Amino acid sequence: NGDVPVLRLANVESAYGPVKAIRGVSLQVRRGEIATVLGSNGAGKTTILKTISGILDPLKGTVEFKGEDITARDPADVVRRGLSHVPEGREVFPLLSVRDNLAMGAYTRTDRDAAARDLEAVFAYFPILKEREAQDAGLLSGGQQQMLAISRALMAAPELILLDEPSLGLSPKLTREIFEIVVRINRERGTTILLVEQNANMALNAADYGYVLENGRIVMEDTCAHLREKDDIKEFYLGMK
Ligand code: ATP
Repeated sequence: NGDVPVLRLANVESAYGPVKAIRGVSLQVRRGEIATVLGSNGAGKTTILKTISGILDPLKGTVEFKGEDITARDPADVVRRGLSHVPEGREVFPLLSVRDNLAMGAYTRTDRDAAARDLEAVFAYFPILKEREAQDAGLLSGGQQQMLAISRALMAAPELILLDEPSLGLSPKLTREIFEIVVRINRERGTTILLVEQNANMALNAADYGYVLENGRIVMEDTCAHLREKDDIKEFYLGMK
């Protein structure tokens, strides 16, 4: 059903003990788009993604994926439904080879031929991973680990990828390269993407639709083309005056 958003959050509140991290977040991601949540350090971006993927159970509100309520589901169940999370800091398995990390991404799949085709697709996006496939993932550079984390998510054949701060710790050049591939994955495979970023410049150029998060609340939303033209976005998030 093309009219049902792939992802819908309604009034979601999540906390760490007494610390409220998100306070009534509502947002939608439409099929085939790249959506982004912008916000500074501590705004609650990571918390939104953890709540969607079932790592953190919300206090209030609902999360719907393809029209079904997945609020507080088990993370493995969420992955099986077609939603993959690329966590902040990559979290690759450092003592497993690149190839075994990718195999871990495909563990929920039963169609081995399709998984083998996806492995070839991943190596086409990131040829360096093919060169390094026998090496331990812990020996890869930060950028290469980010490529591996995205690839591991792709190996689950997701309809939606949650991408947490892919630019973290990477050079501007490497960040650009990774964003280019993320956009290609979206365009070529039709994978819907929800990206959270502190790097507003990169995110607003890559994404179609954006939300601005401040202190756990969405304070603004619009197409990225419109957001880029707003004075307060230019001043606070793009560093222009
Ligand atoms: P960052 O870019 O630093 O990850 P963020 O926008 O993703 O920032 P969150 O990590 O979601 O923000 O954090 C939101 C709030 O929740 C912050 O005030 C943070 O200090 C708090 N917080 C995050 N994780 C925990 C935790 N495990 N225990 C307690 N408080 C936490």
